[in-house]
Amino acid sequence: MTQAQSIEERLFTIRYKADDKSHLIIKDQDVCAKCVDKDCNYFCPADVYLWHEEDKMTSVAFENCIECGTCRLACPTYNIEWVYPTGGYGITYKFG
Ligand code: SF4
Ligand code: SF4
Repeated sequence: MTQAQSIEERLFTIRYKADDKSHLIIKDQDVCAKCVDKDCNYFCPADVYLWHEEDKMTSVAFENCIECGTCRLACPTYNIEWVYPTGGYGITYKFG
């Protein structure tokens, strides 16, 4: 019987080809500054979003995105613009 894989092990099976340009855009950093819970720091399975208190901004490590689409719906103010990466870029699922 196959042992269950951790999320980290599963993410390791994904192949990335990162574009130079982000396909994820924070529409308004001022909205992030007023966002109480900073939900994006928790709901993204690939840890793409990180709030920086000293700079008052959310950084976006778009290269790590696994294109699950969660952030399109889960940001409470819909402050994240999400498009598919340009053709040829993004992820390939090895077993999917
Ligand atoms: S959840 Fe949305 S509004 Fe809040 S910090 Fe993240 S991107 Fe900004
Ligand atoms: S699409 Fe999924 S993996 Fe990509 S940034 Fe949004 S929540 Fe994270």
